[in-house]
Amino acid sequence: MALTDDISACRLCAEDFARTATAHVPRPVVWFRPSARVLIAGQAPGARVHESGRPFTDPSGDRLRDWLGLDPQGFYDRETVAIVPMAFCFPGYDAKGSDLPPPKRCAAHWHARVMAGLPNVRILFLVGGYAHRWHLGASAVKGGVTETVKRWRDHAPRVFPLPHPSWRNTGWLKRNPWFEAELLPEARARLAEVLTSD
Ligand code: SF4
Repeated sequence: MALTDDISACRLCAEDFARTATAHVPRPVVWFRPSARVLIAGQAPGARVHESGRPFTDPSGDRLRDWLGLDPQGFYDRETVAIVPMAFCFPGYDAKGSDLPPPKRCAAHWHARVMAGLPNVRILFLVGGYAHRWHLGASAVKGGVTETVKRWRDHAPRVFPLPHPSWRNTGWLKRNPWFEAELLPEARARLAEVLTSD
């Protein structure tokens, strides 16, 4: 069976999810092909994506597409763009109604195998602190998300650490105007190069 089929069939978190307020069953959102040149490493699907079965079908996705300068057709071309979160399933809500963190076992179980199956990736967008930590390593992210994103030039042009595009980070974007003024133009330009090169 292909790796994508194995992940789609995964039910490792079934007991944990059954204990959440939503008592949902695992529904892995699997979106990649070995040909992909671009990797978007996200956090975990939210409730809307759990319903749609397609990554980033929510306001966060609209903002992320805007950041990258991709229309939905380009963004969802999975032959080119792999969307691989740190957990493939919606983790459920905590007592305050916020999304629970991605279950650690998911990245531990799957992420290295997925990355080994994506040999053509030339540019990586790391969305949020969980993806920063896995892809950059604990020592590179010890200052937290803002510090990691501020130090984006340490990793460009292959890797761009981004904050999560959630509405919760609208204040962060206002406080850190360099992100839209400096990082995003570079990221879009490099992405366009990768998409148009042979
Ligand atoms: S989150 Fe990951 S490990 Fe857990 S059930 Fe979904 S695919 Fe499996």
